[in-house]
Amino acid sequence: MLDLAIIGGGPAGLTAGMYATRGGLKKVNMYEKGMPGGQITKSSEIENYPGISKVVTGMELMESWPEQCMKFGLKHEMKEVTKVSANSDGTFKIFIAGSEEVDSKSVIICTGSNPRRAGFEGEDKFFGKGVSTCATCDGFFYKGKEVAVLGGGDTALEEASYLSNICSKVYLIHRRDTFRASPATVKRIENTKNIELVLNSKIQKVYGNELGVEGVITIDKDGKERDLKVPGIFVFVGMNVNNNVIKQNDGSFLCDVNESGEILVDLSMKTSKAGLFAAGDIRVKAPKQVVCAAGDGATAGIGAISYVDSLGD
Ligand code: FAD
Ligand code: NAP
Repeated sequence: MLDLAIIGGGPAGLTAGMYATRGGLKKVNMYEKGMPGGQITKSSEIENYPGISKVVTGMELMESWPEQCMKFGLKHEMKEVTKVSANSDGTFKIFIAGSEEVDSKSVIICTGSNPRRAGFEGEDKFFGKGVSTCATCDGFFYKGKEVAVLGGGDTALEEASYLSNICSKVYLIHRRDTFRASPATVKRIENTKNIELVLNSKIQKVYGNELGVEGVITIDKDGKERDLKVPGIFVFVGMNVNNNVIKQNDGSFLCDVNESGEILVDLSMKTSKAGLFAAGDIRVKAPKQVVCAAGDGATAGIGAISYVDSLGD
């Protein structure tokens, strides 16, 4: 029986593990299906993590986290959790892909979020063949070429800016004429010569051949179409929370969630189920920042120690 199972090894999960083990919990496993680090490792730049005054890539930011967070006894299991359910004695069962099951006295859900699909024609067909959600991963393939970026939030604008340093031109396609991104980022984009704003426009379809994307057809609010002959389109239209692990066989959730599926927590990161905590992007009203996810993780880790202590031996 584990003291604590942490599901997800991004900034929230890693920090929760460090606080829980440094604070005295002995048997703590962090289940992360990939390498620890989380979605920020896909970001080309981060400049708002306190204490790191240089602009670094997400990968650089996260490089030292696993070593620090695991030095007090946190164990990383590179496994995917398929479900967490409640046992009749108040403990939890962790179902791991490949039919392994583990019991734990407490659980922290830190499964974060994933890029959303925009829903235009050709998006799924050409995904990985010119349609991408990661500029750091795929931008280099379009060195010296023209590309398109879809979206008007911080991610779209920051990644458009990153791509403008690699590509000859970036078309930034957004469905409105104002942006959701922070004003400083909008200003930077507006002052970048090789970024052309394609506003009040949607992508009608992406077309190409068996080798990949050849172009994007956009349509503006007056119905005017444009054919942008680009081999790459980067889609940044928001994130969906990864709440599948708390979905039960009857379709209900293990704890209360809101209409977007975000987990409801109090200020201690406690959910509606005793012994179950949530931290980071998965929780309601998350500011979706690395520093906030880490802070949530610390809070949840401390909460898990108190909870396990309260159970006695
Ligand atoms: P995540 O980082 O999403 O980590 C969740 C982890 O859980 C993942 O590693 C995933 O593999 C794992 N996981 C999920 N389901 C399972 C499962 N069933 N079993 C096992 N493992 C599972 N924030 C900033 O502060 N500054 C920025 O400049 C910034 N830029 C960004 C740029 C981009 C392109 C993106 C995508 C995000 C950016 N963010 C930025 C937001 C930041 O990355 C997130 O707020 C933060 O990573 C959330 O941390 P988390 O630990 O809650 O979740
Ligand atoms: P977001 O803020 O939700 O923005 C999504 C954008 O995509 C919006 O502009 C939206 O348009 C557009 N969109 C949504 N669905 C669409 C569709 N089907 N077709 C076309 N466009 C569509 O998402 P995000 O940019 O990924 O950011 C997520 C969170 O992470 C935010 O809280 C953000 O602040 C944070 N973040 C922070 C930083 C940073 O601090 N530097 C960097 C990256 C991300 P509308 O505007 O019209 O709704």
